[in-house]
Amino acid sequence: MVPSDRPPLPLSTLVAQFHALGLSAAPVVVVHSSLRAVGPVEGGPLGLIAALRAALAPDATLVLPSMSDDDEHPFDTASTPCASMGVVADTFWRQPGVVRSDNPASFAAVGPLASVITAPHPIAPPHGIDSPVGRACALGGSVLLLGVDHSANTTMHLAESMAGVPYASRKECVVLRDGVPARVTYEETDHCCENFQRIDGWLRDRGLLAEGTVGYGHARLVRAADVVRVAVEALRGDPYAFLHPRGAGCEECDLAWESVATSPAR
Ligand SMILES: [Zn+2]
Repeated sequence: MVPSDRPPLPLSTLVAQFHALGLSAAPVVVVHSSLRAVGPVEGGPLGLIAALRAALAPDATLVLPSMSDDDEHPFDTASTPCASMGVVADTFWRQPGVVRSDNPASFAAVGPLASVITAPHPIAPPHGIDSPVGRACALGGSVLLLGVDHSANTTMHLAESMAGVPYASRKECVVLRDGVPARVTYEETDHCCENFQRIDGWLRDRGLLAEGTVGYGHARLVRAADVVRVAVEALRGDPYAFLHPRGAGCEECDLAWESVATSPAR
């Protein structure tokens, strides 16, 4: 729960904080957020979304995750919730004028490039070069982390995909084929993602990370291309740079390690 002793912050404060971070220069911004960490803000999730839109340049495109939490039912752009990405993400895709991609790994966007970013994309890799985060990166986009760290940064999976990491997990989802639900299996680079935080210091040391306070939380703004470049560089040196060491007690990373022997050669 949001601590109740903090007064909710007005939109004008948030907009000023976003400007101080440099947000108004971003042509495309992919936002990952925790309202619990940055709030309370006046208007709740809608207030935070309004502040983002007010702080961005008028010709900028705002992008948030809207992926499904459910691998049992076909994805429906009009109704499938996105609870796991936080209340701001699950509020954003429902707003008028927001376009949502029709994919279990959906993203939603508003702005001039929204249709390009959310155009049909393949099931796998979910966050590859031909995905909303891949397109946002190619279009000069930035990543804004609001009260979350790089473990929530989907663009790190784009870097893993581009580097061709040797680990992957088998996932399942249900899609409609000619109106009939069909179960599809696919491979996704998945692990606990905690060690994505390693990139934080690497970006900071290179002067590529803008940081500040937004609401009551910590905010980071970085160009997506810089995330990919620095992460791919690290993965070239060590393809397992973002996994916990094998047998270190992390079940999810151990599954990724196990997949190395069984995955097709890349
Ligand atoms: Zn792990």
